[in-house]
Amino acid sequence: MVDFIADYYKSIENFPVLSQVEPGYLRELLPDSAPNQPETLQNVLDDVQAKILPGVTHWQSPSYFAYYPSNSSVAGFLGEMLSAGINMVGFSWITSPAATELEMIVLDWLGKLLKLPEDFLSTGQGGGVIQGTASESVLVVLLAARDRVLTKLGKNALEKLVVYASDQTHSALQKACKIGGIHPENCKLLKTDSSTNYALSPDLLSKAISDDISTGLIPFFLCATVLKRLVGTTSSTAVDPLLALGKIAKNNGIWFHVDAAYAGSACICPEYRCYIDGVEEADSFNMNAHKWLLTNFDCSALWVKFPPLENENWGGILLEFEDRNALIQALSTNPEYLKNKASQANMVVDYKDWQIPLGRRFRSLKLWMVLRLYGLENLQCYIRNHINLAKYFEGLVAADSRFEVFVDMVAVFDLNLVPSLVSLIGDSLYWDKVKALDPLPHIGDAPHRRSSSDAALGLALSRYRSVWISQVPSVAALAGCYPSD
Ligand code: PLP
Repeated sequence: MVDFIADYYKSIENFPVLSQVEPGYLRELLPDSAPNQPETLQNVLDDVQAKILPGVTHWQSPSYFAYYPSNSSVAGFLGEMLSAGINMVGFSWITSPAATELEMIVLDWLGKLLKLPEDFLSTGQGGGVIQGTASESVLVVLLAARDRVLTKLGKNALEKLVVYASDQTHSALQKACKIGGIHPENCKLLKTDSSTNYALSPDLLSKAISDDISTGLIPFFLCATVLKRLVGTTSSTAVDPLLALGKIAKNNGIWFHVDAAYAGSACICPEYRCYIDGVEEADSFNMNAHKWLLTNFDCSALWVKFPPLENENWGGILLEFEDRNALIQALSTNPEYLKNKASQANMVVDYKDWQIPLGRRFRSLKLWMVLRLYGLENLQCYIRNHINLAKYFEGLVAADSRFEVFVDMVAVFDLNLVPSLVSLIGDSLYWDKVKALDPLPHIGDAPHRRSSSDAALGLALSRYRSVWISQVPSVAALAGCYPSD
């Protein structure tokens, strides 16, 4: 299997990035039911080669540019292999103490690399947890914030709870609101425009909050986005002003979540850490190490503060909080069959109380491997090289009169120009540079193949804001190699 995967990486550039199959193609190729007798591994691998790979969109191809990068690395593979080999289910400390303790330690390490405030670390008054995705991260903190209020005001207050974010925020928030029972009209996506580079305006937020309070609604959750698609939100790369928003949230007793899913990884470089200035004001923060930190999917790091809560003024209602840990309060269950001495004595972290499922994998192994086998300096170098490529690319775009830079973004605003952009990249030294600039030490003979969209991600930072290629349907074609994609 290892050889098979190694061969796949050797030939990955030969595949069309986007799978060319038609819907339902696989049903015609595979039998209707599982075999009665065992088959050989070789038979299965032959089928993978002939029937599965044609239906794969090759996210790790250097020519992949769709959605977002989902990078992997040899270190990440090794961690995944070890995790699969050990295959434990670490929902409580007792079910595998090393799994819980390593996760706490590694998220403290990563939190320190990101220069998160001490309050987010387990050595402080908070802690980190690995979720599968940013969507789960925002969901669990929204549930924590919701229940914190409902515990005090009673369940009937649910229909009055209001969530705020900008209209550029990732749809993961809307899904969390749906699941959390927030009235659809109370998920308020405040309007943004080019005058603020599509960032959420603190003035608009303050006004929305006071208007809502005056009509009897209860503001309780604010989601700001940082470092998405380089820096900023999903569709426009806007960067919300954390400090100002955080202060408003605090004054109104609102839980403040910062979503840095996409490019939060860049903050391991001191020169990009400024993008999360103001995170000190947040109650929770998340970034996806599986997007730009060489950690194989899935690895969404979420940090939560558990400070002693002061009495808070909620839309004119004074709430008294004794509960230090809203997240655990919202998500913990304590059935007889899960009880054990360490948990009962409150001596340990049980991550089942920080997430939706009970079961959980040993995901910290791969992040630990990545941090140890590459080291901070190489990881910083990796990020910086992408940003250098981005600057180079930006120069190409800026020098071409067919394209226009606006609102700190590079946008292809005429879809007919996509082929021109493809040729712009294709004719340049860009790809040679991508190959030449790989800074990572090789482990064994395995080359570090990674998506060139990582480099595109670096585009975002090249203007200290973002560079954005508008969401053209054929964005995958930007790879240049497979225009038919
Ligand atoms: N938030 C931001 C800023 C994102 O960029 C993304 C994914 O692109 C998400 C949330 C959702 O990510 P996930 O697939 O981890 O739920």
